[in-house]
Amino acid sequence: MNFIDTHCHLLLKQFDEDRQEIMKKVNEELDLLIEIGINVETSKNVVDFVKNKEKIFGTVGIHPTESEGLKETDLDEIKELSRKPKIVAIGEIGLDFHWETNKQDQYKSLDTQLDIAKEVGLPVVFHIRDAYDEAYNFLQKKGLSEYKGVVHCFSSDWEKAQKFLDLGLYIGFDGPITYPKNNKLREVVEKTPVERILPETDSPFLPPVPFRGKRNKPTYVKYIYEKISEIKGIDIETLKEIIKSNVEKLFFNKV
Ligand SMILES: [Zn+2]
Repeated sequence: MNFIDTHCHLLLKQFDEDRQEIMKKVNEELDLLIEIGINVETSKNVVDFVKNKEKIFGTVGIHPTESEGLKETDLDEIKELSRKPKIVAIGEIGLDFHWETNKQDQYKSLDTQLDIAKEVGLPVVFHIRDAYDEAYNFLQKKGLSEYKGVVHCFSSDWEKAQKFLDLGLYIGFDGPITYPKNNKLREVVEKTPVERILPETDSPFLPPVPFRGKRNKPTYVKYIYEKISEIKGIDIETLKEIIKSNVEKLFFNKV
């Protein structure tokens, strides 16, 4: 069995020079990869990209920082795209108050896309940054027990993680769990049940140690597996089995 990268952006320009080469490595070293949309244009590209590629699946959605001035027709397009083959989730969607864009637009975009997820029956990939309390309160009010999803690239403490776990969500971990200073985040890995963990790279962003400062690649997800394996004291082969089962449950509706 091989590794799975549950969150990456291979279609961004950072891969324009050598996407073919990267894809070759992905085919050799990964069992599955999920390519994530961030706006209408990239979501369309994801739908095209996943065609005829056995191991590649995709998501469509509008990222919170892409939500400013959003049009109703954009959301209609996301709904239409979400019904295309090999689209396994709505995402990444959520709240991002790190960059002060229009909060009203972010809430509206999140709200409508959650309705779309419900209507088309897909899980959700959440992007939450500097807005964990706000996102939790919103999801709780919205009645999230009806949705399935993952809080991608989790970057807060155990207290917050617990709340999202209580909502029934998975937690996605990326390169930052390998950074020397991030003991708080490693504590979250330690305490999160392994049946609710998803390793991801968020390539080309957030490269793990020993590649900090360089471009991240989907194949580096093995460093995330290694760190999780070390923290939780679970051998890599067992971890691969558990992660595969997590991915099947969340994205492929298997029981
Ligand atoms: Zn992402």
